[in-house]
Amino acid sequence: MGYLGGFLVTFRQHGRKNRVTTQYSGGRLFKRKKRSASAMDVKVEKPERLHGRHVLNRYEDGMEKCIGCELCAAVCPAKCIHVRGADNDPDNPTSPGERFGWIYEINYLRCIHCDLCVEACPTEAITETKLFEFSFTNRKDAIYTKNELLVGDDGKPRHMPWEDWRPGEDQHTSAWMRATASAGDASFVGVVSWAGERGYGVRAAEATQAEADSSADASITSDGTTSSSAQTKSSVTH
Ligand code: SF4
Ligand code: SF4
Repeated sequence: MGYLGGFLVTFRQHGRKNRVTTQYSGGRLFKRKKRSASAMDVKVEKPERLHGRHVLNRYEDGMEKCIGCELCAAVCPAKCIHVRGADNDPDNPTSPGERFGWIYEINYLRCIHCDLCVEACPTEAITETKLFEFSFTNRKDAIYTKNELLVGDDGKPRHMPWEDWRPGEDQHTSAWMRATASAGDASFVGVVSWAGERGYGVRAAEATQAEADSSADASITSDGTTSSSAQTKSSVTH
């Protein structure tokens, strides 16, 4: 009978104007605890390295990081990235160097959020946010172009009408990139080896394993249970 409950959720959504589901898992947990209806609209806390909707980053001076090299498109297993580079105008360059990303598109009907594109990018131009609450009712909306992907003058992602951003969520745009040590060498853990970002400067490195462990230990409550923040930290660093 459990599947009938799923159909019920689908039928309830028919005819509603809201394109984004807001009955999140966090909300359902609140409901079980008999909280108010407004408390239903709560997202569960996500791991810091969650692979969500992408952004194209800019340097602190506003220049675009993408150099149009197409490595991200080449490595993408779903073949959902389309990039075309072009020569910079020497008098008014878009990015440092010779070329910039002239066309950049990601088809979210294909993307599997593996983040191989992030790993492949030599300039940290493409990274991901933690936003996973977005949906489309037509193919055009599902293909994000450079207009949607490039961060604004404040370094934050642009908000599309069908995306459900909450305050502060748009600040987490490069966690996975900063979590990986160069070549996987443990001696690079905690060493800053990335460029600054528009609006944020050079972001700090993720906590080392020892720091994360001691933080988790400190979060063990007196009755022996682990607080949610300690659980989150633990899931991030293992
Ligand atoms: S996350 Fe994976 S599937 Fe999505 S665009 Fe990047 S490489 Fe392609
Ligand atoms: S996002 Fe990175 S890998 Fe992709 S074209 Fe731009 S610079 Fe190259």
